Amino acid sequence: MAGKTVVILGGGVGGLTTAKYLARWLPSEHRIVLIERNPRHCFAPSLLWLVFGWRRPDAICRPLRDLLPSRVEVVQATVERIDLKGGSVRVDGRSIGYDYLVVSLGASLAYDSAPGLFPTAYSFYELEQAVRLQEAVAQFKGGKVVILIPAVPYKCPPAPYEMAFLLDYYLHKKGLRGRSSISVYTLEPAPLQAAGPNATQGLLALLKERGIGFSPQHRWKAIEPQKRVLTFENGAAVEYDLLIAIPPHQAPAVVREAGLTDQRGWVPVDKGTLRTSHPQVYALGDVTVIPLPTGFALPKAGVFAHGQGKVVARNLTAEISGRGIPGVYNGFGACFLEVGHGRAGFMSGVFYTQEGFPTIHLRQPALWWHWGKVLFERRWLRGNF
Ligand SMILES: Cc1cc2nc3c(=O)[nH]c(=O)nc-3n(C[C@H](O)[C@H](O)[C@H](O)COP(=O)(O)OP(=O)(O)OC[C@H]3O[C@@H](n4cnc5c(N)ncnc54)[C@H](O)[C@@H]3O)c2cc1C
Repeated sequence: MAGKTVVILGGGVGGLTTAKYLARWLPSEHRIVLIERNPRHCFAPSLLWLVFGWRRPDAICRPLRDLLPSRVEVVQATVERIDLKGGSVRVDGRSIGYDYLVVSLGASLAYDSAPGLFPTAYSFYELEQAVRLQEAVAQFKGGKVVILIPAVPYKCPPAPYEMAFLLDYYLHKKGLRGRSSISVYTLEPAPLQAAGPNATQGLLALLKERGIGFSPQHRWKAIEPQKRVLTFENGAAVEYDLLIAIPPHQAPAVVREAGLTDQRGWVPVDKGTLRTSHPQVYALGDVTVIPLPTGFALPKAGVFAHGQGKVVARNLTAEISGRGIPGVYNGFGACFLEVGHGRAGFMSGVFYTQEGFPTIHLRQPALWWHWGKVLFERRWLRGNF
């Protein structure tokens, strides 16, 4: 059989995982090409620690090349066009053909789609933004902290709440908590809804215990930076001294322009195989939409992109070489929830149910869950994923 070329778009969680396992399982006559615009990969969960000075940028990022077996051809370039009919992608002006395509380009952060909000609001969803917030937090002398969720979906649904918990801890340590308030405003009716009512109630209890305000069903409308006031569609007006917002997410333009997205704005895939409706084209991770029986979609999180990447690698190996047994992705997810004081909570469960919500409980914060996350970070940055 002539060698096939598998092209993987995106060297984030999903792309790295797919490439690593393909390199392990796919016979050597086949090529594996990974295209990523950034020369290095940063471990996103550690951005939360970086904001408080507990990590430096260099400690949470690694050259992409160091994380992958030498067999994977890494092309550092921007994907400009995906030609599904012609079976090729255009990168930095040249064309690369594929037999199989894996799209793992993640979600783009659409700062401009929240007019006026950024850069007045700080963010922590990208390295540069997190560094900027770190400086603001270090200089903060106490006051009203507002964490705003202006749009859904957004990746890692617990992250804004982890930010609130870590701020609570940090301000306590600096003796500033007494003269500070911390509040989360979101357009959602409740946090972590896709994970089910147990997870939601567990998180709400933790917020309450720490005196962190939570205002659901607040759809952001406008900002008055001079007055430091946010207004909401329900008429509420909220003052802030430090404003942190989650940028709206959308599928990358190159994915939308290729016609891979549907009316929901994301790439529909088979939930078990991650195949798209286009022959020999797979998509996984944050760029996809996978509806659940409850009406919610599978959350956007690295744990899902990782599990999906393994399944795609397994199935491509079977499809191309006839080796191994094809797998079916089962929607398993797990998450550490940082709460400060060297502790974290933990949630896990299978999101693919026949009907109803998954059974997911938020385990009480403990030292070992925090150390579990530290260990996970270390392993990931050594390429053990
Ligand atoms: C602060 C924070 C904390 C988080 N914590 C957790 C956590 O604890 N647990 C968890 O499960 N998830 C967490 N996540 C979410 C997790 O990081 C994402 O869900 C995960 O990275 C998705 O993987 P992906 O492969 O789909 O996309 P990504 O990892 O975002 O990878 C997409 C890649 O595509 C590249 N790319 C995009 N467009 C182009 C282009 N045109 N050309 C070339 N390259 C391109 C990007 O540079 C990027 O490297 C967190 C996220 C943040 C921001």
